[in-house]
Amino acid sequence: MIKKLLIANRGEIACRVIRTAKRLGIETVAVYSEADRDALHVYMADEAVAIGPAAAAQSYLVMDKIIEAAKETGADAIHPGYGFLSENAAFAKALKKAGIIFVGPNPKAIEAMGDKIESKKLAAAAKVSTVPGYLGVIETPEEAVKIADDIGYPVMIKASAGGGGKGMRIAYSSDEVAEGFASSQSEAKSSFGDDRVFIEKFIEEPRHIEIQVLGDKHGNVIHLGERECSIQRRNQKVLEEAPSPFLDEKTRAAMGAEAVALAKAVDYDSAGTVEFIVDKDKNFYFLEMNTRLQVEHPVTEFVTGLDLVEQMLKVASGEKLGLKQKDVTLTGSAIESRIYAEDPVRNFLPSTGRLVHFRPPFLGTENGITTRLDTGVEEGGEISVYYDPMIAKLVTYAPTRIEAIDAMGQALDAFAIDGFRHNIPFLAVLMRNERWRSGDISTKFIAEEFPDGFAPPVPEGRVRDVLAAVSASIDHLSTTAAGSPSRCTGSLSAFPVTVWSSWATATWSAFGSRAAISRCVRRSAERAPGESERTIELNSNWWFGEPVFEGTVDGEPVAVQVRSILNGVHLTYQGVEVPVRVFTEREANYLAVMPVKEKPDMSKFLLCPMPGLVVSLAVEEGQEVSAGETLCVVEAMKMENVLKSEVDGIVSKIHAEPGDSLNVDAVILEFE
Ligand code: ADP
Ligand code: ADP
Ligand code: MG
Repeated sequence: MIKKLLIANRGEIACRVIRTAKRLGIETVAVYSEADRDALHVYMADEAVAIGPAAAAQSYLVMDKIIEAAKETGADAIHPGYGFLSENAAFAKALKKAGIIFVGPNPKAIEAMGDKIESKKLAAAAKVSTVPGYLGVIETPEEAVKIADDIGYPVMIKASAGGGGKGMRIAYSSDEVAEGFASSQSEAKSSFGDDRVFIEKFIEEPRHIEIQVLGDKHGNVIHLGERECSIQRRNQKVLEEAPSPFLDEKTRAAMGAEAVALAKAVDYDSAGTVEFIVDKDKNFYFLEMNTRLQVEHPVTEFVTGLDLVEQMLKVASGEKLGLKQKDVTLTGSAIESRIYAEDPVRNFLPSTGRLVHFRPPFLGTENGITTRLDTGVEEGGEISVYYDPMIAKLVTYAPTRIEAIDAMGQALDAFAIDGFRHNIPFLAVLMRNERWRSGDISTKFIAEEFPDGFAPPVPEGRVRDVLAAVSASIDHLSTTAAGSPSRCTGSLSAFPVTVWSSWATATWSAFGSRAAISRCVRRSAERAPGESERTIELNSNWWFGEPVFEGTVDGEPVAVQVRSILNGVHLTYQGVEVPVRVFTEREANYLAVMPVKEKPDMSKFLLCPMPGLVVSLAVEEGQEVSAGETLCVVEAMKMENVLKSEVDGIVSKIHAEPGDSLNVDAVILEFE
C-alpha cells in the first residue's frame, strides 16, 4: 500500500483526497503556489512544499517541480485530482520513470481518451454507440460545409483536444458551419495549441448522463451507475445527481455495459467516467471519456456507499478490485450543487475577495438526510483571480430525489458566504423550480428557464411573510436593545410592496430577550381594503452578529441570511435578496417626501465589470466606435471577458493599459 501521497492539486479536491488518505493512514504532502500559502489544503496535509508563483503555468502545471517535491519528501505516489496534470499522459509517464505511482489510469488510456476524434474511433470499434458524425480532421470551411450537409442539421463543431466546454459551436445552416468552423478552430488553437476540429450531429434537447467506471491492474472493470449532469450553463455543469430520474434499469444496464466495454478496450485501471448524451427516446451516444476523478464524484459515493478516492488508491497500489458488478447497488438519491464565485445577476461574472463569512449549514446526518460539503476555503481566506471560481460543492443525500432537493434548498439558505458574489441565490431558486423538481430537464434547461439571465425573484406570498416577520423582529430587537419603548406602531417598508404591520402591544412585549423572539408579527399586505390581518408565528434564537437567522415561521424551519446595512438589514432567502428598513409610521411619512438621490450618469465610461487583468485594448483615443464593437479584453479566473461598446461614440480618453490589474468598476476608458 501507498505510504506517502503527494496531492498535485489545490482547493476542494486536494482537501478531499487528503481526507481519505488520512483515514487510510497514508501520510500526505501538499504542494502550493505563492497565492495558496495559507490555503486549507496546506494546513490539512502533514507536509507542504512550495512550488512557485501564483500562475498555474508556473506552479501546479510544472511537472518537474511536482516530481521534485515528491522526491524531496519521499512520497511514493501522486494523486493529480482533476484539471491541472490529471489528464496529462506525459506526466503519468514521467512518474513511472521516476518510480512514483500515478494515482490514475495507465498513460496509454489517458492518451487514447484525451483526443475526442481518436476516442470516438476507439468507441466505435468497441461497438459503443457514438454521435453520428465524421470521424476525421476537417481542413477547410468548404469541407466542413459538405460534411455538415451530409450529417444533416443541426450539427456541432468540436475541438478534438477540447475540454471544459471550450471550442464548441452549434450550427443550424451551412453559413453557420463556415463561421463556426473558423471560430472553433481559432479557439482550439489558442486554448489547446491544437486546431483540429470535427463535426457531429447536434442532439437536440439531450440529457447529459455519464457512467462511473472503476478498473484495476488485473483486467477487472465494473461500473458504478450513472450521474445525470444536464443542468449546465454554457456546457458547464452546475448541478449533478445520482441516480438519473430518467433512466430505467434496462437503459442503465446497457449504458453501463458499453462504458465497461470501452474502458476494457484501453485496459482502464482506475476511476474514470464515460460521458453520454441521451435523447428523448433514451437513445444514448458516447461523448468522451474523462480519465480522472470527476468533480461530481460525491453523488456516486453516496448512492453506492463507496469512497472513490480509496478505490483509486487501492487499485493504484496494485490491489484487485474488492467488489464485483453484482455487488454494486444504488440506494437513495444524491444532489450536488457547485458553488461558484460568480455573480449570477451580472451574467455570472467571476467575483473575487476576502471570505468575510463562510459558515456552512449543518453537515452530517439528521432524520435520514445527509449533507456533505467539499471545500478548500475557510472564513478569512481569499478568492483570488488565479484559479477556478468553483469554491465548494454542497451535496445532499436522502431516500428520495425530492427529499434531497428540499434538503439542498434548506442547506443553501443556511449557508452564509459573504465578501464576494456567489451563485447560492441562483442555486436556491433552482431548488424551488418546478421543472427541475419534476425531473423534466435537458441540457437546455437553464437557457430555457432563464432566457434573460438571472434576476433575483420578487418576494411574494410566503417568502414575503417570512422576510417581513424576520425584519420586524430584528427591528424590534434593536429598538428594545437600545432602550426604546417596546410599543410601537410602525410600517415596514421593504419590497416593491409595502408591508404594514400594526403591532399589538401584547404581542411585542413578549420580545426582547435572546431566547424569545417568539410570538407573532401581524401584517396586512399593502393594506388592501378588506384584507384581514394575518398572524405570523416566528421562533428563533437569533442574536446580532449571526449571519444567519435560523428558526421557524409558522412552524416551518427557515434560514435567512442577514447582513447589516445603514439603518437596516439586507436579507437573502430562497434566492430573494432585499434590503429592508423598518420605519415607524411617522418616519415613513417623512420618507415619502424626501428627494430621491439620482445616480451619476456613467454611460460615458467603460467600467471594469470584475477585478481582473487587462489583456488588450482594441481601440485608441480619438477612435470612433459603434455599439457591439470590442473595446477591451479583461482576464479573470481563467476566463477572457470581451468588453464591447454599448453605444456609438468616440473614445476620448483611455485610462488603462494591457497588464494593468483593475478593481471592479475601475474606469477603463471614456467616451466623448
Ligand atoms: P467534470 O466533467 O469533472 O465536471 P470539467 O470539464 O468541469 O469536468 O472540468 C473539471 C475541472 O477541470 C474544471 O473545473 C477545470 O478547472 C478543469 N479543466 C477541465 N478541462 C480543462 C482544460 N482544458 N484546461 C484547463 N482546465 C480544465
Ligand atoms: P467537454 O470536453 O468540454 O466536456 P463534451 O464533449 O463532454 O465536452 O461536451 C460538453 C457538453 O456539451 C455536453 O455535456 C453536452 O451538454 C454538450 N454537447 C456535446 N456534444 C453534443 C452534441 N453532439 N449534441 C448536443 N449536445 C452536445
Ligand atoms: Mg465533458
